[in-house]
Amino acid sequence: MTDFRTKTDADGVATITWNTVGKSMNVMNQQGFTDLDALVDQALADDTVKGIIITSGKEGSFAGGMDLNIIAKMKESAGDDPARGLMDGLMASHAILRKIERAGMDPKTNKGGKPIACAMQGTGLGIGFEIPLACHRIFVADNPKAKIGLPEIMVGIFPGMGGTTRLVRKMGAMNASPFLLEGKLSDPMRAKQAGLVDEVVPADELLNAAKAWVLSQPSIVKPWDEKGYKMPGGTPYHPAGFMTFVGASAMVNGKTQGAFHAAKALLSAVYEGAMVPFDTAIKIEARWFTNVLLNPSSEAMIRSLFINKEALEKGANRPAVIDQKVSQVGIIGAGMMGAGIALVSALAGIKVVLIDAKQEAADKGKSYTADYMDKGIARKKATPEKKDAVLGLINATTDYAALKGCDLIVEAVFEDVGVKADVTARVQAVTGPDCIFATNTSTLPITELAKASMDAEKFIGIHFFSPVDKMLLVEIIKGKQTGNLAVAKALDFVRLIKKTPIVVNDERFFYANRCIIPYINEGIRMVKEGVEPALIENAAKLLGFPLGPLQLVDETSVDLGVKIAKATKAAMGETYPDGEVDEVLFWMFGEGRLGRKAKAGFYAYDDKGKRQLLWDGHEVKYPVAADQPDLITVQHRLMFAQVLEAVRALEEGVLEDIREGDVGAILGWGFAPWSGGPFSWLDILGTPYAAERCDELADMFGPRFDTPALLREMGDKGQSFYGRFGQDAKAA
Ligand code: NAD
Repeated sequence: MTDFRTKTDADGVATITWNTVGKSMNVMNQQGFTDLDALVDQALADDTVKGIIITSGKEGSFAGGMDLNIIAKMKESAGDDPARGLMDGLMASHAILRKIERAGMDPKTNKGGKPIACAMQGTGLGIGFEIPLACHRIFVADNPKAKIGLPEIMVGIFPGMGGTTRLVRKMGAMNASPFLLEGKLSDPMRAKQAGLVDEVVPADELLNAAKAWVLSQPSIVKPWDEKGYKMPGGTPYHPAGFMTFVGASAMVNGKTQGAFHAAKALLSAVYEGAMVPFDTAIKIEARWFTNVLLNPSSEAMIRSLFINKEALEKGANRPAVIDQKVSQVGIIGAGMMGAGIALVSALAGIKVVLIDAKQEAADKGKSYTADYMDKGIARKKATPEKKDAVLGLINATTDYAALKGCDLIVEAVFEDVGVKADVTARVQAVTGPDCIFATNTSTLPITELAKASMDAEKFIGIHFFSPVDKMLLVEIIKGKQTGNLAVAKALDFVRLIKKTPIVVNDERFFYANRCIIPYINEGIRMVKEGVEPALIENAAKLLGFPLGPLQLVDETSVDLGVKIAKATKAAMGETYPDGEVDEVLFWMFGEGRLGRKAKAGFYAYDDKGKRQLLWDGHEVKYPVAADQPDLITVQHRLMFAQVLEAVRALEEGVLEDIREGDVGAILGWGFAPWSGGPFSWLDILGTPYAAERCDELADMFGPRFDTPALLREMGDKGQSFYGRFGQDAKAA
């Protein structure tokens, strides 16, 4: 069965309808291109056809894009000479879109040809917007929920089916940049204002409007196919264009630090394409797109940020128990975390009972939601009615009796076993043992905290990251006795509040913090050794980390570091490995340089608390060495410090699924997103080299870099993580 069919009406308008079999939204694949091509040929050759409408058979949407599973595998399926295979495949698809655009016109005179309109019922993303861009006029139904744009850059590729070249020629490089470089999406009205689409019409008039236009004998020559075409905003050698391109290059490099291959490739395609005729520009776009597809980063990013992220959100690791809807959640502790959890819950339409020890504190927690909604109203993203509705869902109180009827509790009180145990008992005196009880602890063992509960099977960790409303990851932690019902409940809650979950087992610092702490510690260690702090921070930035390790200490605060260090040392005793780190940390603490909140840390801050340059006062205690390490050594220390923890977490069974390790690292602490995550990075390096490199690092810097047995074994066998542990398979 084909995804495209055509019907010609009595007025001579051929409507090609796209309806991907078995999907709720259209997605493009290789067969789809072939089928579309054949139908376009047929309509252009048929003398009774006056014009064409391309539309979708799906309600409310045109198309969601290319099937990314296919893009991720394109390199593998491109034959012995993948670059050639990819380039040929891309050019064949370009030829179809160019055929639509030229529509049978005479190449010299631009005479003849048949008008082709695209009638979009709603959402059109990626190829779902690149096909419309090749048509002569774009009509969209006025569906405010629809999203239109080219989001490819978000998963490590760029619009490579003519979208880049056509958008830049349509609106100029400057105006196109938010849509290409940031993947900005627009609803139909905004898309029309921006010049992305031509007409927004009521849904039930969509096809008639497109048909009337097709039959109106419109001019169909694209501006770039007219003689004397000038690109809006100017080409690179035009004074205005020069400013744009110089600025764009600086902006892209500033924002990505060169770590994101696709952004640079996109910019090159735009720059080089702007100086040549359209058909050559398309070839240039295809070359750069081939280059991006050949880079292992694009496959890894698509796999982690799209395919596996979605699989986890859809419950890939959810136990098979019935739907565990959450209709009323009790949140205990209305501090920074509790207030944020209340906000995201209420935004998802869940009733919230927000409890704190004092009414004033509970009210303050609720006011966080009020402030958030006020900001939304100021930005026209919310209305006063919506604010009232969301606030109406939150009952801020000190009265534990209000928890009656809650079907989930999330505890976010002080990080203290005694306080948490007391709260658990008080809550369960009201809710009884059946209500699932979750703790948001970041450091205390779940199994230990569960001892205060009436039923350890119903006790679980739901670890949010700060700030709750911005951070996309939630780490769900199973204690030794946590049962399936609790896991399913936590996962269903996380799905309702639209975050991405990973499920891990209960060991010190769970998964995310277990990896972040060695990253921070490695940075501090290097300060002690006399490595230039700017080298440490820039090495991290050049890897694509949002924050260098020293800035991360300042943000999370030196006193928190001291507290965690003391607690860890007490728990580990003799085996505690981080004495050298603590020396620096405790010295900073003694100097009162507690981080951003104290306006003094590894960085200097102005009176308003704005971060300035790195502080050089540490040099009195830890002088900068005359000999500095090379960049790659610093980067490998920072990367392996985290990645080896991820491998150990897998070895120890803390992680059960490498997909969670990769997705969790990118969403949880911004681990080099271009790499696809720690396991993807090791696969890019190749496990034999990674194991060998660990040996070298261990020789130079100590046993914390010792090659884990699993990595050693995989290196010896030449295995990759995704090869061994598979897309869907859980780790053995
Ligand atoms: P916070 O100090 O901002 O808030 C704690 C709140 O709990 C305060 O409002 C306090 O009045 C209230 N509280 C204390 N004892 C109480 C009791 N007996 N009954 C009711 N309310 C009580 O702390 P926070 O940063 O929101 O952290 C809360 C929890 O979340 C801790 O377990 C922490 O480890 C964890 N956590 C924090 C972060 C973070 O970045 N801050 C991230 C993840 C997890």
